[in-house]
Amino acid sequence: MRAERAAGHAPGGSSAGDPLTPLGGDDREPSDGHDAADHELATFVRDHPSLFVLGGAGCSTASGLGDYRDRDGRWKRRQPITGQTFLGDPLARARYWARSSVGWPAFGAARPGTAHRALERLQRAGHVRHLITQNVDGLHQKAGHRGVVELHGTLATASCVACAHTLSRDDVQLELLRANPWLATLDAAYAPDGDADLELLSPDDVDVPDCPRCGALLKPDVVFFGENVLRATVEQAMADLRQSDALLVAGSSLMVYSGFRFCRDAAARDQPIVIVNDGLTRADDLATLKVAGDCGPRLERLAASLSTV
Ligand SMILES: [Zn+2]
Repeated sequence: MRAERAAGHAPGGSSAGDPLTPLGGDDREPSDGHDAADHELATFVRDHPSLFVLGGAGCSTASGLGDYRDRDGRWKRRQPITGQTFLGDPLARARYWARSSVGWPAFGAARPGTAHRALERLQRAGHVRHLITQNVDGLHQKAGHRGVVELHGTLATASCVACAHTLSRDDVQLELLRANPWLATLDAAYAPDGDADLELLSPDDVDVPDCPRCGALLKPDVVFFGENVLRATVEQAMADLRQSDALLVAGSSLMVYSGFRFCRDAAARDQPIVIVNDGLTRADDLATLKVAGDCGPRLERLAASLSTV
């Protein structure tokens, strides 16, 4: 019983041309600036007071951080580096760090957007019980959200693959620029996940910082494409999902299995799913309710209509 309701469309009873039936009817926009989909979303959340939220790139686009896929879930750009390539290909690793050094200042300075603030407000009002994010930008935490689970890790730190010594990304940045001052003179278009569109003529020239303790490789504390999310993280998140009333997907196309699996698990147990996303998602046919549109303004209106904090 997963009849998907098309957001923003209420069933109309009038037939065109019948002068006795008022036009518009249920389809009229309410006067409070909230459309029919906003009201459906608010009703869903009132009916399911303990939410498990899965956040994706759509939460951060308003903060200037791009995403990887278009509205149809297709790649907008080249695929990001895989973990295997990062670890096994020194030139690819050099290119990664060079591009990252150019992209990091803007990425690290990004501020929370509407979606982050709205979800934090919904948490304070008691609606959001768990939040796991596919993003690596830390913006939910910067918005004051507590207990955020970062499914794909964080770009804020990097760790040694041998001794697990951890450095802040800011410290790695200082070392990158100290060893390669020319990187500071580069200018390139910003790309998702702290990357930049930069083609290096000679990646051999990049002096990549190693672990200051043991000299082994440093790797950002993110789950690269092709790598698996830590099993303990997934198991805890699944347990949290099962204790919640419903799953709310905010700004994710769910094309990556690490996020999609939560929808599949919820659907298999007939747990309600609401998806707020601008564009197609991989779980549209599993959703109890799909709400189209930018998730930031949607969640902001949701928080405004539900919370008193
Ligand atoms: Zn080390």
